Amino acid sequence: MTEGPRKVVCEICGQAKPLAKLAGRYYCYECARKVLEEHILTQLKELERRGIVQLASLRRGRAEPPAG
Ligand SMILES: [Zn+2]
Repeated sequence: MTEGPRKVVCEICGQAKPLAKLAGRYYCYECARKVLEEHILTQLKELERRGIVQLASLRRGRAEPPAG
């Protein structure tokens, strides 16, 4: 087994071809997406805590069509 001193792999799944670098860490595309989603969700929950946004209404996806 030969190990390069600078072998870069995904922090989460260990894939050898990470595509994204977030906060100084490398992630493959799939893991980067999950990390970003979690990060965004964490921020959204904090905003909800403060009463700035309502996640319940966001989860409905689309706004209701205008009545008329
Ligand atoms: Zn990965």
